[in-house]
Amino acid sequence: RAKESGRNSIQLFTPAMGEEARNKLIRIEELRRAVERDEFVLHYQPQKDIRSGKVISVEALVRWQHPLEGLLLPGAFIPLAEETGLIVPIGDIVLRKACEQARAWQDRGLPELRMAVNVSARQFLENSLTSQVASALQSAGLDPRWLELELTESLIMRDVEGAIERMHELTQLGVSLAIDDFGTGYSSLSTLRRFPLSRLKIDRSFIADIPSKPGDMAITSAIVSLGRTLELEVVAEGVETEEQVHFLTGAGCEMFQGFLFARPLPPHEVEDLIVRMAEQADNG
Ligand code: C2E
Ligand code: MG
Ligand code: MG
Ligand code: MG
Repeated sequence: RAKESGRNSIQLFTPAMGEEARNKLIRIEELRRAVERDEFVLHYQPQKDIRSGKVISVEALVRWQHPLEGLLLPGAFIPLAEETGLIVPIGDIVLRKACEQARAWQDRGLPELRMAVNVSARQFLENSLTSQVASALQSAGLDPRWLELELTESLIMRDVEGAIERMHELTQLGVSLAIDDFGTGYSSLSTLRRFPLSRLKIDRSFIADIPSKPGDMAITSAIVSLGRTLELEVVAEGVETEEQVHFLTGAGCEMFQGFLFARPLPPHEVEDLIVRMAEQADNG
């Protein structure tokens, strides 16, 4: 009897485990195939400069056009891609597509736009990153000054000396660097100033509860002053309300990215928006 219930509990337990492991393997296989078949598309979220009223930059955000499940957001596959190393070929695809899109917009005479691309930990640590970036720029015929790479704070703080070296390799290509999700990683002023950076992006979590959380507002203001001290541009991410814009502008932050202004959009919608914004800005 004890033996039997033991067997039962094993039977209840093992198949479930087996299924989870099996699902993961299937997912990995699907992801591998997605790389081969190029099932990735990029959406682009505009960043607005409140002073000029123009879109100055777009961030490329990857989506997986899954054959059965439809368009999947990064949260559904980037962690697995990181874990398996598939982020390296996916990252390469993203870089190439983003550079090609930026170049295509330039060729179509759109107002000048910087293209920001996210780089994950695994990619950043890969020695091939610099040559990947150089090759993507070259095949697209994109001037490196239009490309910005977004690195996360936790990533570059993990090995400061190594990160500085890698960052110099990248800036020597002529691309610029931003820290994404800034404010969550406790970096010190003295460390930050050693990085060859152009921009800080304030983490969305600090913006979300403005104006109801004084603590978050204090942190946001502190990041804006830090940016000024280090002569870096500061971009607020995840801006959803006019109240947030009001507070941020008062604090001295003039660059915004968020749903209030625009969601991540497919290329043709970005194009329409940018043309419309430029016309509005020029008309006053
Ligand atoms: P991230 O780089 O911080 O990108 C901003 C994320 O915040 C995007 O989510 C965007 O849709 C979302 N967002 C922007 N404004 C708002 C807003 O006002 N409210 C809210 N609630 N959300 C907003 P998404 O596209 O799901 O991407 C999530 C994360 O996945 C990105 O965060 C980035 O870390 C990662 N990711 C996206 N594309 C790539 C990629 O090509 N390569 C790598 N390595 N990571 C990527
Ligand atoms: Mg980003
Ligand atoms: Mg971010
Ligand atoms: Mg984020």
